[in-house]
Amino acid sequence: MTEPDQQTKRYSPEDVRRLQAEFAPVAARYRRHTVIALCGILVLIACIATDRFLSRPILKEEFGTGLILFGIIAAAVLLAPDLTCPGCSNDMDDEPADYCPECGACSVQPRTTFGSASCRTCGKTLYHGPGYKNRRYKIRFCTYCGLKVDDKGL
Ligand SMILES: [Zn+2]
Ligand SMILES: [Zn+2]
Repeated sequence: MTEPDQQTKRYSPEDVRRLQAEFAPVAARYRRHTVIALCGILVLIACIATDRFLSRPILKEEFGTGLILFGIIAAAVLLAPDLTCPGCSNDMDDEPADYCPECGACSVQPRTTFGSASCRTCGKTLYHGPGYKNRRYKIRFCTYCGLKVDDKGL
């Protein structure tokens, strides 16, 4: 959980560099898992789309192929690393809390019954739903402590 003093915590430039370096392998692993899952889904869609035109439909007749594809996608999703902040140890994949994950400003407008959270600084709508990667924004900054963890965003 978030401790009160972490909200105002400031990282020195050396801290930021050290923590970013610490997080880089996790980010790389996370990206790999995302790419594998997306490729698996694309191949599956391609199989579904072309199966009816094939004399030997891959998914219908080669049941194992479909199963392997599902297995690859499931493994990529389930074994993806948690996006734990190297600075404050909170899960950055939680709903946006204080800091905007896109621009890093401490100006997140919390989610309401009718709408998603949003950022008052960059204006982004920070949709976050249940399940894996069910969010429509990239994580560049930790939403709990504001540490910049990735340039491109995850
Ligand atoms: Zn923002
Ligand atoms: Zn953090």
